Amino acid sequence: MLRVYNTLSRRLEVFSPLNPGTVLMYVCGPTVYDYTHVGHARTYVAFDVIKRYLRLKGYDVVHVQNITDIDDKIIRRSREEGRSWREVADEFTRDYLEVLEKLNIKVDLHPRVTEHISEIIEFIGLLLEKGYAYVAPSGSVYFDVDSYGDYGRLSGRLSKEEWGQEQEYVKEKKHPYDFALWKAAKPGEPWWESPWGPGRPGWHIECSVMATLYLGERFDIHGGGSDLIFPHHENERAQSEAALGVKPWVRYWLHTGMLTVEGQKMSKSLGNIVPLKDLFREWQPEVVRLWLATVHYRSVVNFSDASLHQAGRNYERLANAVQALQEVLRKEEYSFKLSDEGRKLLREMARLRRGFYEAMDEDFNVSKAFSYVYELTSIVFSRILEKPEAAVALRALALLEEFNKVLGVLDKFFSRAPPLPLDQLIELIVEVRKRLRKAREYELADWIREQLLKQGVRLYDRGEETVWRLL
Ligand code: AMP
Ligand code: ZN
Repeated sequence: MLRVYNTLSRRLEVFSPLNPGTVLMYVCGPTVYDYTHVGHARTYVAFDVIKRYLRLKGYDVVHVQNITDIDDKIIRRSREEGRSWREVADEFTRDYLEVLEKLNIKVDLHPRVTEHISEIIEFIGLLLEKGYAYVAPSGSVYFDVDSYGDYGRLSGRLSKEEWGQEQEYVKEKKHPYDFALWKAAKPGEPWWESPWGPGRPGWHIECSVMATLYLGERFDIHGGGSDLIFPHHENERAQSEAALGVKPWVRYWLHTGMLTVEGQKMSKSLGNIVPLKDLFREWQPEVVRLWLATVHYRSVVNFSDASLHQAGRNYERLANAVQALQEVLRKEEYSFKLSDEGRKLLREMARLRRGFYEAMDEDFNVSKAFSYVYELTSIVFSRILEKPEAAVALRALALLEEFNKVLGVLDKFFSRAPPLPLDQLIELIVEVRKRLRKAREYELADWIREQLLKQGVRLYDRGEETVWRLL
């Protein structure tokens, strides 16, 4: 039984999605104003592992991860570089998508803010209509935090003193902690038309709107880095529950621990980022992925050469184990006979498999789960390869393939041969038949035509040429 740690309740809860069999998951993605760095990857890999495990357990998972393509930082960078905000956003969106591909992360949907302006305006309209928001003299719209009774519970900031204040437009707000839903355009900034005048969305509103649009008014998992709990997720929660009249909007809030460099969060503003495009020159993406996939999603991860070296060694061991087992299976005859040692090994593998699932069921305890994976590789090298038995090797290989469904680093060893190119094969047979006819081997040529017909391929002879159709 899977249990997950819900940031909102601060305890482990039994995982039970809204609709049995389906998990709806929204993860806060990047603001695309710079290269994707290792800190981002920490969060993206963690949620990919979570998704893969849920799929392994049989759930259909819908994974939405937004792209913030308009924001103060994007505008600032576009000014600094004398190009449009869209060029900046497009460049770093490309980088982000390339990184995900290299890390073997497949997100189902990547909605962008600027493609959802009309839905955002509608959502803000709803908040105004219900009395949870107000329009300020500048034309900006703010969420009235006091009007929503449950503010601060997600982050545990229960007193107003802890809510701080948004830096901008403070004077026109009712309360310093009210946050912008719509920002009135300042000269030279990109803007969209709205009932409150030209402007652009505030940051938080996009996630409420896009999650609702693609997942519905309530969904199962909302994820992101723990840096987003306050104010971003606190605000998302407040405005969504207020506008939609649902509670809880999100069933499980999951947050990743930060990736740090010498104790400090890796972030652009601290100037300590390592872009993945650079890291991939030194380390294979599989190694980076393995490193990040095997630390618990809630732990703080420190960026260090030593941990990457360790991941490099682990990756090599896994890859070698798979290849050695495949080698055994190419050579060994399949046999139903099992030695006593073989029997023992099969039982041990059953124990490792159980251990893996039990660990993952404890709030996705990957580090514990992967201790079983490494135990398996040890068994492969120390015992299975010693005196190979096909049935045992086959089981070990299948188990590694199963574990890799979550790990996602060994795909190239397990990818099946591509499907046969049917068209080319038929063309080849047709060509052989043509040559036979030329050599007056009509009997054989006719036999080929009959055989193909039995397989559902009809040949039409047009003089020397032959065309074919699938029946
Ligand atoms: P950003 O583009 O900074 O909004 O970040 C995109 C996603 O990456 C969010 O879910 C962040 O919480 C996460 N993230 C950013 N920096 C880090 C970090 N140093 N460690 C872990 N996650 C991070
Ligand atoms: Zn968000």
